[in-house]
Amino acid sequence: NQSLHEFDPDVAAAVDAELHRQQSTLEMIASENFAPVAVLEAQGSVLTNKYAEGYPGRRYYGGCEHVDVIEQLAIDRVKELFGAEAANVQPHSGAQANAAAMFALLKPGDTILGLDLAHGGHLTHGMRINFSGKLYKVAAYHVDEQTSLVDMAEVEKLAKEHRPQLIIAGWSAYPRQLDFAEFRRIADEVGAYLMVDMAHFAGLVAAGLHPSPVPYADVVTTTTHKTLGGPRGGVILSRADLAKKINSAVFPGQQGGPLEHVIAAKAVAFKAAATDEFKDRQSRTLEGAKILADRLVQPDLAETGVAVLSGGTDVHLVLVDLRNSALDGQQAEDRLHEVGITVNRNAVPNDPRPPMVTSGLRIGTPALATRGFGAEDFREVADIIAQALKPDYAADKAAALRDRVSALAAKYPLYA
Ligand code: PLP
Repeated sequence: NQSLHEFDPDVAAAVDAELHRQQSTLEMIASENFAPVAVLEAQGSVLTNKYAEGYPGRRYYGGCEHVDVIEQLAIDRVKELFGAEAANVQPHSGAQANAAAMFALLKPGDTILGLDLAHGGHLTHGMRINFSGKLYKVAAYHVDEQTSLVDMAEVEKLAKEHRPQLIIAGWSAYPRQLDFAEFRRIADEVGAYLMVDMAHFAGLVAAGLHPSPVPYADVVTTTTHKTLGGPRGGVILSRADLAKKINSAVFPGQQGGPLEHVIAAKAVAFKAAATDEFKDRQSRTLEGAKILADRLVQPDLAETGVAVLSGGTDVHLVLVDLRNSALDGQQAEDRLHEVGITVNRNAVPNDPRPPMVTSGLRIGTPALATRGFGAEDFREVADIIAQALKPDYAADKAAALRDRVSALAAKYPLYA
């Protein structure tokens, strides 16, 4: 029973180095967050030892009396949090949640209609070499070239043309809210199920700061580790009449034993998500994203070809558009990395540069809001990013920006 440091100093050193990275830099990857210590503790618990195939009260293994309590708490809490009729908390990830939901609702060869990957959709919404693109026929809708908003007229046109069995609303890189009522109307018009993948904005929904898809969708999937701020994992919410199909699609359809340590951590995260502190974090997340977008559309950047997709944001992220800039996505990501800000380059719609380079950046505020950042701090971060994207960026300037980043990181100690 040696500790990690005693038994495996190699792994321990890398974990320590990662903790230091998270503490000393500014995490602005839109899909990341910092899980509370209580979540880490639940996830790092002895529950990892337990097999529990089945569901609470109906297991295929003995000794499940305690994990039953935990999984039922997770189910009840997430149903309450989102006002859902049924919940499955076992998907190991967001991709697994989507695979199981589609497995429940579709047969191989059926047609799905989702947002194109290059326009902000997720791999599991029909990408060619993902399971979703291999098992199902795929039609993809897009954002409008002028407005960068999802083109609902195209969604309706494609739905009528392809008669999909499933329409997917949801995104990985999109700065605005979707019109769930309109998606519902179109799905009803063609007799399709509507699945909303709220992986990115689930935390905002939980806080009541983003419209909920639950009243409109047959099935809502999510991850638990993005704006929700819990452990890495997935959840499927549904109408009560679909619950049985979904449960059997998750187990035994797609997975074996559930990760009860992760489910315990999900239960803790759902409890946290019902607090006023969580709501405050989500409102600072939104405020921070707006401050960032406002800074990045100022003339000093606009004149260098830097723009913001859709001109702003309603959510927790900003998509920087570098199509008219000499700076590409890779160079911009590298510059921010150099000053201690972690983001990811991201293709923008109709991106002229190759996928490994791209003409965009996706910048999110959830992790910094969790760290405690408020409006004044976000103004400082926004200006650091703006300075790093300017053509006069150079080694001496980088050092000064790095110092400003270090000061912010020191102001909000993480896992201290
Ligand atoms: N759905 C959406 C919209 C996502 O953005 C992501 C992750 O980026 C996923 C699903 C997949 O989640 P995971 O990485 O946990 O499989």
